[in-house]
Amino acid sequence: MLKYNDHATMNRWDNENFVHPWEGMEAIGHNERTFVEGGEGVYVVTEKGDRLIDGPGGMWCVQIGYGRDDMADAMADQARQMAYFSPFNNAHSTAARLAREIAARTPGDLNHVFFTTGGSTAVDSALRFIQFRNNLLGHPEKKIVISRHKAYHGSTYLAASVSGKERDRLWLDKAEGLAHFLPDVNPLHRDEGTSMEDFLDQKVQDLEQAILHLGAEKVAAFIAEPILASGGVIVPPPGYHKRCLEICRRHDVLYISDEVVTGFGRLGHWFASEEVFGITPDIITCAKGMTSGYVPMGGCIISDRLIDEVSGAAAQGATFSNGFTYSGHPVSAAAALKNIEIIESEGILDHVREVTPLFQERLHALSELDIVADTRGMGLMGCVECKMGDKTSLENDYQLGTIIDAHCQKNGLILRPIINMCVFSPPLIITKTQINQMFDILQDGVRAAM
Ligand code: PLP
Repeated sequence: MLKYNDHATMNRWDNENFVHPWEGMEAIGHNERTFVEGGEGVYVVTEKGDRLIDGPGGMWCVQIGYGRDDMADAMADQARQMAYFSPFNNAHSTAARLAREIAARTPGDLNHVFFTTGGSTAVDSALRFIQFRNNLLGHPEKKIVISRHKAYHGSTYLAASVSGKERDRLWLDKAEGLAHFLPDVNPLHRDEGTSMEDFLDQKVQDLEQAILHLGAEKVAAFIAEPILASGGVIVPPPGYHKRCLEICRRHDVLYISDEVVTGFGRLGHWFASEEVFGITPDIITCAKGMTSGYVPMGGCIISDRLIDEVSGAAAQGATFSNGFTYSGHPVSAAAALKNIEIIESEGILDHVREVTPLFQERLHALSELDIVADTRGMGLMGCVECKMGDKTSLENDYQLGTIIDAHCQKNGLILRPIINMCVFSPPLIITKTQINQMFDILQDGVRAAM
């Protein structure tokens, strides 16, 4: 086994051998990276010993914080007892318990959990389940999935095909004819003089008109993140999801709520669909906060109604031929169970609801800075968007997020830069003092970019 761990060697190995996600390949061989080697609570600790508040909570996923012995013990105990056995035609009690605990926390009749390895595979599985259902029920032509501009649903082929960020779609092929995209739902971009109520009407009409235009007999599902996360924390107008669900019901279109980011407490509830947005969708997809990022896991949660509809499949010689070696992996399931136990016993959902007003108040106070075009968020999700083409050259505008992040990192805060935006979703255990520290640093970072 190779043992060198001095910075220069690690950096070389990282550049020469580790292909990072979502990076231009030209970066290979040229990056100077800081290695993050530890974590505690809301902080990550770099190889130099610097402690930084983790603004994005890993990648929207670190709910209970870093470095918890109780999580490590739960995973180690499970690994010692039974690390893995095939989930195909076999059962494991840890996964069965987890499915039950999740079903107890989902809205309505969403009681059947299909475990996956992450968010993309959860979305893929939801789409494949719907294909299976429609084929089985004799509607093979009902296949189109309506998604939205700026949506992100994952990196596997189907999930990427229903993702709507144009820049992401440029260089890879997509499943032809699968997806139809609705226009921007960001209230910031509504025409001058258009009220929020009128904007809501327009956005809901966009969905209904798309269904009528494509033909309801061809539209299988509508997929929506409650809040578009990677698209820049876009909060749709109030009442949007409820009215979209009504339209879906009217036209026999299934509603997939992609709660990969919003699930497991980000908005102060186990799931946001019902508690925050008042809807019971047909399928919820989740991942990320499900294990607080300690190990990979995802889930596609399906309603009793849909499961009943396909319950005659075996008699027709049909199987839902979709599944993963690691579906319901015992170590991941043990981590997810512990995560639920910790969130519950430590009152973390109540805590999120308690600190949210301060978080949102400090976020919106940034809009007073000249360079800021918009601040938006909900729960412990936030985005600060800077003006483009105003103060700096276009090339620099695209770097604004990175410039702000670099400045903040020097002062103890990591952000997630996206073009001219910075997004953040810190660990749910963040205290009021830490929220104030975070926004003090961010405010300085935004000022420095002016
Ligand atoms: N869905 C949403 C809403 C996401 O934000 C993401 C990832 O950021 C995914 C799906 C894909 O999840 P994963 O990266 O675990 O495959």
